[in-house]
Amino acid sequence: MSPLDRPQPKPGILDIAAYVPGREGAPGVAKVWKLSSNETPLGPSPAALEAIQAAGRHVELYPDGSATKLREAIAEAHGLNPANILCSNGSDELLGLLAQTYLKPGDEGVFSEHGFLVYRIQILAAGATPVVAKETDERADVDALLAVVTERTKIVFLANPNNPTGTYLPVDEVRRLRAGLPKHVLLVLDAAYAEYVRRNDYEAGIELVSSSDNVVMTRTFSKIYGLAGLRVGWMYAPTHVIDAVNRVRGPFNINALGIEAGAAAIRDKAHVEQAVAHNETWRVWLTEELTKLGLRVTPSIGNFLLIHFAEDDGKTAAEADTFLTARGFVLRRVTAYGFPNALRMTVGPEEANRGVVSALAEFLNG
Ligand code: PMP
Repeated sequence: MSPLDRPQPKPGILDIAAYVPGREGAPGVAKVWKLSSNETPLGPSPAALEAIQAAGRHVELYPDGSATKLREAIAEAHGLNPANILCSNGSDELLGLLAQTYLKPGDEGVFSEHGFLVYRIQILAAGATPVVAKETDERADVDALLAVVTERTKIVFLANPNNPTGTYLPVDEVRRLRAGLPKHVLLVLDAAYAEYVRRNDYEAGIELVSSSDNVVMTRTFSKIYGLAGLRVGWMYAPTHVIDAVNRVRGPFNINALGIEAGAAAIRDKAHVEQAVAHNETWRVWLTEELTKLGLRVTPSIGNFLLIHFAEDDGKTAAEADTFLTARGFVLRRVTAYGFPNALRMTVGPEEANRGVVSALAEFLNG
C-alpha cells in the first residue's frame, strides 16, 4: 500500500522523536530505586493524600473546569491574582498549549542546545520550526539565544533550572534576554524546579512576568510537591495570554483529584522546606562523592545531577547504566539531550544515594 493511500500526518509530525519517559524498573531486580524522572523521595504532603481520598468520593462529577480552588490557593501562596493563573494537566500540557496558541507553520520556536525535549516536540507539533541556540558551559547563553531570533521567531522556551543539566541563569541574565527580544516574541520561563532554588530570584522572575506583556512562567506540582502521578501544572501569565490559551485548552484539562491535592500541597510549606533541605544536603554530598570518584558532575541547582563518563575505556555511560540497573539503581540516559556519555540521577533517599556512589566506585575500579 502506498503511503498516499492512507491519512498523512501534517508536515513536521514524523520529524518528532517521541518522548521516552524514565524507566520504572530493572528487569529481574527485586529492590529498585527509580532515580530517572526527578521525582521527590519524600512523597506528597500527607495533607494532599487526605485531600485526594476525600475528592475520590465524587469522581462521578466533572471537575471545575476553571480550577478555581487551586488557582486561589496558588495565588494566595505566591501573592498573585488568580486571574493571572491557568492550571493544566502537568506543565507539559501548557508547553504544548502555548506552542499551539502562538505558533503556525513558517514560525520559529527557539530553545537552548540542551533544553527540555518537550520544546522541540511541541514546536514541531504546532507545525513550526525548532531553532536551537548554542550553550556555554552547559548553560543557556543569552547572546546565543538572541542571535538566533528572527522576525519569524514567536516563542522562546527557557528552562530555569534546566533539565538535564541543572544549570541556572540568574535573573539579571533572564532580564537581559527579555530586554533583547522583540515585543511580539513570547518568552516562556519553564520553572519546573523553581522551589529547589534558594534565592530570591524566583520572586524576581515572577516580577518579570508581572511587568511584561510577553513573559509567562510555567510551574508544576510534579517535582517538589510530589504529585507527578496526578498531572498538575500551572502558569503565571498576563491576562491576554490566559485568555488566548483558555480558548485552546480542553474544558476539563485538570482533574478533580489534582485540584484538591494541589491546593492542599501548596499550603503545606513545612513539607516543601523539608524537601528543599533534604535535596541540598544530598545534592552537595553526591556532587562531592562523585567528583572524588573522578567523575565530572555539572554544577546543579535542581534535584538531579548530570554525571559525565569517560568515552573510550570501557567505563562509558551505557556501561555504567547497565551496571547500575543490575543493582537496582535506575538512572536516565540523556543521549536525546545531546549527552551520549552522561547519566542523569535524581537526588534520592539516603540509602539510594549512598548505594549509587558505592556501585559507581565498584564500576570504576572493577
Ligand atoms: N519542564 C521541565 C524542565 C521538566 O524537567 C519537566 C519534567 N520532566 C517538565 C517541564 C514537565 O513536568 P510536568 O508535566 O510533570 O509538570
